[in-house]
Amino acid sequence: MKYHSRKIFYLIISLLAIICFSLLIMLNIANEKPKSSKIITTSFVGYDFARAVTGDASNISMLLSPGAELHDYEPTPEDIINIKKADLFIYNGGESDEWVEKILKDNEIPESKTFRMMGYVDLRLEDDLDDDDHEDHDTDDEPEYDEHIWTSPVNAIKIIENLKNKLTELYPEHAKSYSEHSKSYISRLKTIDEKIREIVANGSDKPLVFADRFPFQYFVDEYGLTYFAAFPGCSEETEASSKVIAFLIDKVKQESLEVVLKIELTSDKLAQTIAEETGAKILELNSAHNISKADFDNGVTYADIMENNLEVIKEALK
Ligand SMILES: [Zn+2]
Repeated sequence: MKYHSRKIFYLIISLLAIICFSLLIMLNIANEKPKSSKIITTSFVGYDFARAVTGDASNISMLLSPGAELHDYEPTPEDIINIKKADLFIYNGGESDEWVEKILKDNEIPESKTFRMMGYVDLRLEDDLDDDDHEDHDTDDEPEYDEHIWTSPVNAIKIIENLKNKLTELYPEHAKSYSEHSKSYISRLKTIDEKIREIVANGSDKPLVFADRFPFQYFVDEYGLTYFAAFPGCSEETEASSKVIAFLIDKVKQESLEVVLKIELTSDKLAQTIAEETGAKILELNSAHNISKADFDNGVTYADIMENNLEVIKEALK
């Protein structure tokens, strides 16, 4: 009897110890949960590439709100606090991120905690604008690089490869999973790249006409495409001159183009005008500057966007 009660006593003590131990572990896990995201990115592509490498978006946050205009973004004080707290801050590094360098310097954020996408691809200078039309432009002579590097899937692959290395340095315990995730995303992008090359090789030599801004310089260079656009780069202009409109209408007619292109999240007023004059249909080539709220919530990826673009290019080069 004595023996039995002692046995029960020890059993209860052991059970209590196990319960306490488990509780401690659970509390510890709860405390370790980051209050803010570990990876912060300025824009959608950075977000997408980090998600592709890690295979999980729960620790990544994008400063730009879905659907918002990338070129108008300015960081809030809270954004800056979050950048300081992050393990890694991913930014593009061009004109739209001009605010970044100052914030990194003022807050003494070391280079080891940043990833500048433009540092990993061959850059090209922005196309010069006609000077007489743009007197209000900066007068300094510093060359400005075209920031839309991600519009080329080949560049996207280079960036993801380097981002994987950077994230592996930060979280070596995830090396295997990062390597697997990035490998499968890169292989999807390589297939897209091959398909575009095939479409271009089998398609017509006709130019693409953009009744819009033109952030696709890296894309057309990569695939040897010719183009005409209403505005260079991501010009803030939205009203095309009658000269430009007439020029684009002529091009569509001369080349008997069946497609006139516009980009995402912009007005299609100009494209409508050209379409009405020429009978061409309007298609959207998505430059992935940002993503709509609905697409963001549905987990649409850069690769999904490029897969749609592929069909648009096919149609335009028919
Ligand atoms: Zn842009």
